[in-house]
Amino acid sequence: MDVYESESKGVKAAGYFSGKKFIILKGSHAVDDSQVKPSLYEKPARVEKRKDLISKGILAKEGLAYVFNKDVEFNSPSEAASVIWGSNLNGRLVFGLDDTVLSTHILYFEIDSEKAIEGYKKDHVLSIGSRNKSLVKQRKEKDKYTCQACGLSIHIGDKAVIECHHIDPIALGERETTIDDLISLCPTCHRIAHMREPIYPVKEVARLISCNKKT
Ligand SMILES: [Zn+2]
Ligand SMILES: [Zn+2]
Repeated sequence: MDVYESESKGVKAAGYFSGKKFIILKGSHAVDDSQVKPSLYEKPARVEKRKDLISKGILAKEGLAYVFNKDVEFNSPSEAASVIWGSNLNGRLVFGLDDTVLSTHILYFEIDSEKAIEGYKKDHVLSIGSRNKSLVKQRKEKDKYTCQACGLSIHIGDKAVIECHHIDPIALGERETTIDDLISLCPTCHRIAHMREPIYPVKEVARLISCNKKT
């Protein structure tokens, strides 16, 4: 079990991966309420999580901070870091989780597995809202309605069969989407991209597709 530690603002915390969850160890600390920054409120679920842990006494007052009196499961290192240091943080940076660490936690799915479909559908959810809708439209236009992994471009009547994929859905939780976060993929390549967590990079999807093409 690899344990990742971080210390900031006089508060030290340690955690480890359990599958996709990040577990903060008992004895870790969290900042006092006076240290909570407005940026935490951009993620109401994290505010709630912090409140919940405090109200249940799992985060207990200790001097000028809180202490975890048992191991606590978080959905991501970012969620943990944000709750602990009271602002919106990137857990990968905070806990020094580089790509090699994350790559040991890759999960593979069948194409029709619930997890694969869930990630695939998430992109559609992220595309809701007028600002994102217009970004999606711009991206598809820029990519000429062509799949950026396999080159497929299919039109049925005047409708293009093309989808918009978020290149890094994890980072997108941290900030606003830009056109560079998106890429056009055909439905097949899009499904393949989500057969792994973290998702396959588009280059890797292209390689997988070309390996499978019958000559
Ligand atoms: Zn494709
Ligand atoms: Zn996608």
